[in-house]
Amino acid sequence: MDQHQRPPLDVVVVGAGVVGAACAYYAARAGLTVAVVDRGPVAGGTTGAGEGNLLVSDKEPGPELDLALLSTRLWRELAEELGTAVEYEPKGGLVVAATSARQDALRAFAAEQAECGVTAEEIPGGRLHELEPHLAPGLAGGFLYPQDAQVQPALAAAHLLRAARRDGAVLHTGETVREVLTGPDGAVRGVVTDRRRLAAAAVVNAAGTWGGELAALAGVHLPVLPRRGFVLVTEPLPRIVRRKVYAADYVADVASGSAALQTSAVVEGTPGGPVLIGASRERVGFDRTLSVEVLHRLAAQAAALFPVLARVSVMRAYRGFRPYLPDHLPAIGADPRVPGLYHACGHEGAGIGLAPATGLLITEQLTGKAPALDLAPFRADRFGADRSGADGAP
Ligand SMILES: Cc1cc2nc3c(=O)[nH]c(=O)nc-3n(C[C@H](O)[C@H](O)[C@H](O)COP(=O)(O)OP(=O)(O)OC[C@H]3O[C@@H](n4cnc5c(N)ncnc54)[C@H](O)[C@@H]3O)c2cc1C
Repeated sequence: MDQHQRPPLDVVVVGAGVVGAACAYYAARAGLTVAVVDRGPVAGGTTGAGEGNLLVSDKEPGPELDLALLSTRLWRELAEELGTAVEYEPKGGLVVAATSARQDALRAFAAEQAECGVTAEEIPGGRLHELEPHLAPGLAGGFLYPQDAQVQPALAAAHLLRAARRDGAVLHTGETVREVLTGPDGAVRGVVTDRRRLAAAAVVNAAGTWGGELAALAGVHLPVLPRRGFVLVTEPLPRIVRRKVYAADYVADVASGSAALQTSAVVEGTPGGPVLIGASRERVGFDRTLSVEVLHRLAAQAAALFPVLARVSVMRAYRGFRPYLPDHLPAIGADPRVPGLYHACGHEGAGIGLAPATGLLITEQLTGKAPALDLAPFRADRFGADRSGADGAP
């Protein structure tokens, strides 16, 4: 049968990163006919540069934390289905404070989070070494977050897509979406790639950092900007870092809207042996230049937390561009400006963690169910029609 004669798909997902993969997974599982299109390979965008932390610990009460708590539960379910293939580790996060003033601030933060369902246990300075024997001496204390976990992002995207394909989804890699088709009523009718036309009743914009460009193809404004981050990867080591460990400053860096460079090391071991040291944050457009200053700062901060790392070799460093929206919240759900257009992008530094909740919520909307969370804070039209800043400039 000719491509043009095929009945329209229920949905085309643009983007085969972890968010698009999660959308495809839940949509196909719900019985929808799904195609996923990516101009590169699976996880070739920011997903391939992510660290894979699934964090509730760094999120203040509000819509993002609600999303993270839902996702935490969904990742646990997915881990049972996908097994060890995605390297899911429910290892918990440990946030440490250098001074008693920082520890007080962490205590107040944890108390606010507890009201939303986050579990955190205060660890006095004297007990930190029971949890992490190689931590620097003299820290004032910390908080242990057992709900924090870890996956390997590229594997997670690949296995979600594999499961979606078992449920009938079709994957087109190496194809760029050039056009979003709309009918005379303004509603979405599908997409045109550089190889084919895919008729569909709905299009999901899971184009990550390029979500603004995809939105523009549908005629709407969405100011997704790149926020660069570097990660250092050490030589393989015995398990000297047991959990995900970071200093209290990290939370402030994540929440900051500043374009300037911020670094506060998050240190974690991996099943393969290398220790990952992430991650910096700066808005410098899509500049791929390796920054020695950033790498130096990350390495120094990691060695301050774990002095043993000062004697360890770094194997490589990589960078990626987080999809950043100005209020730090992703765009999730139906776009009221274009019937049939759905957004699932702009998750900044939390897209791996937030992918399952995003996929589930989009699917609930696609199938006419009431979404498990209020999607109002994530509406894509919250930025109005202002086009300033959408060019990737800091
Ligand atoms: C250094 C660093 C560390 C990070 N660490 C973490 C972490 O620990 N935990 C966490 O949760 N998050 C982390 N993140 C953030 C996380 O990686 C992202 O939020 C997430 O990967 C976004 O996934 P995505 O599927 O939305 O985007 P992407 O993975 O970028 O996927 C979008 C896809 O869309 C495709 N695309 C775009 N335009 C088109 C088009 N026109 N036609 C066809 N295809 C198109 C692209 O090729 C791309 O593959 C980190 C990010 C960085 C940079």
